[in-house]
Amino acid sequence: MKKDMICKLLIIGTGPGGYIAAIRAGQLGIDTVIVEAKKAGGTCLNVGCIPSKALIHAAEEYEKVLHYAEGKSPLGIGLAAPTLDLGRTIAWKDDIVRRLNNGVAGLLKKAKVPVVHGWARFKDGKTVEVETETGPQIVRAETVIIATGSAPIELPFLPFGGNVISSTEALALKTLPATMAVVGGGYIGLELGIAFAKLGTKVTVVEAESRVLPLYDAELTRPVMKRLADLGVAVLTGAKAKGVSAKGDALLISTADGADEKIAAEKILVTVGRKPVTEGWGLEEIDLDMAGRFIKIDDQCRTSMRGIYAIGDVTGEPMLAHRAMAQGEMVAEIVAGHKRSWDKRCIPAICFTDPEIVSAGLSPDEARKVSPEIKIGQFPFSANGRAMTKLAEDGWVRVVARADNHLVLGIQAVGVGVSELSTSFGLAIEMGARLEDIAGTIHAHPTQGEGFQEAALKALGHALHI
Ligand code: FAD
Ligand code: NAD
Repeated sequence: MKKDMICKLLIIGTGPGGYIAAIRAGQLGIDTVIVEAKKAGGTCLNVGCIPSKALIHAAEEYEKVLHYAEGKSPLGIGLAAPTLDLGRTIAWKDDIVRRLNNGVAGLLKKAKVPVVHGWARFKDGKTVEVETETGPQIVRAETVIIATGSAPIELPFLPFGGNVISSTEALALKTLPATMAVVGGGYIGLELGIAFAKLGTKVTVVEAESRVLPLYDAELTRPVMKRLADLGVAVLTGAKAKGVSAKGDALLISTADGADEKIAAEKILVTVGRKPVTEGWGLEEIDLDMAGRFIKIDDQCRTSMRGIYAIGDVTGEPMLAHRAMAQGEMVAEIVAGHKRSWDKRCIPAICFTDPEIVSAGLSPDEARKVSPEIKIGQFPFSANGRAMTKLAEDGWVRVVARADNHLVLGIQAVGVGVSELSTSFGLAIEMGARLEDIAGTIHAHPTQGEGFQEAALKALGHALHI
């Protein structure tokens, strides 16, 4: 039996929530231990944000050269038939993941936080047993942060296995499927569905709701719908998946009008949401209060048991890496005795579709609920010089503000590359910017960011370029 480890802070999970909490705790001189059953970096780094963006980028590049090869590019670029070696693409993606794994391990080492490798299980509120390769390791801690993350939801009639895959397997395919049915037209379904369509797969998206990306307002998703059509992606809304054919080569669905249909599919990618990882680590031993499927937390990420905090996907929506990281940093400071509570004005959300969608703060409909009168300024990229030079004229920036004092409540954009604008959107809302602050800030020319300034000017009634 190994000697017990005793520490002030124990963190379970090295995803964005856990590893950031560990690094900050280490910086603050807190004696910290972190446990991980798989690889450093969690879902985000290993099978989520990073590998998906690598595949999306490779697909964008491939589609671009295919377009050049058609000889129709207005840029006057042409080339001979491009080829795709998906095995090499995936190896390149894996190398990025490997470098980042090492990066997180290095950062934890620099913060002097030891990593215990294995599955952790609570024995009581202060004691955790980790099943390591070399036997059980007991870790006793004054304070514990649960950062166990989330896992893909499995549909009972479409269990994962064989041709029915989750995003994890989709990001590791070494040969390109000729056909793919995507069940769920949310974040993952559309990001990966578009990427596979660009690589050459015939993609069909089956979405239960009346439109895809139902979390975003309809106007924001319109340019994405147009692009899906251009890419030949079939989108069936109001349709429900029912199962897989006996041979495993087709998805069975019922369409919006109730008809049964069979969609030929070499792979069926199920992306109907993610569930918190709340099983197998002894939740029942500590009997925490829950908020539905998630662990209930307060504005300091405290659970119902003293000394136990929870952060990240296991605590609910929005299940985003940057939310988990911000919670991790906050909790480490709370454990160090700092006065902190969750006071963020917005958690920007980005969908890395083509074109990209960004939403920070409130949509016009949400804003109307908190402010009886609002001002909206929307500026199209078709009037933006930089967008024209990038063939990125589809899309716009929209600013939503209170009518009385011009406080900015929300900023949304759709367009090529707008994900990079999310940082200035978040900053504006976090700092309580008014329309005049954005309008009065010099935005460098020529950039798509000028569209943001113009949208604020438009809301004030004097846009300059439309
Ligand atoms: P996780 O990253 O899930 O990490 C939890 C870790 O805990 C895991 O490593 C797990 O092995 C470990 N663990 C769990 N239980 C135990 C235990 N008992 N003992 C030991 N270890 C344990 N978010 C974005 O913000 N932007 C994106 O672009 C984005 N893209 C995504 C794309 C895909 C395909 C997917 C699947 C997700 C994406 N996400 C994205 C979501 C993002 O990955 C999650 O919000 C984020 O990883 C949550 O971080 P976390 O720390 O809460 O948990
Ligand atoms: P999601 O919640 O984004 O989308 C799931 C979709 O599936 C919804 O549109 C839903 O209506 C639909 N659906 C549910 N059941 C269905 C059924 N039986 N048949 C057909 N459609 C059905 O979930 P996701 O795409 O799996 O992503 C999970 C989470 O991962 C996201 O909520 C997000 O938090 C995170 N994520 C974020 C990013 C990003 O930030 N860019 C990217 C990927 C994932």
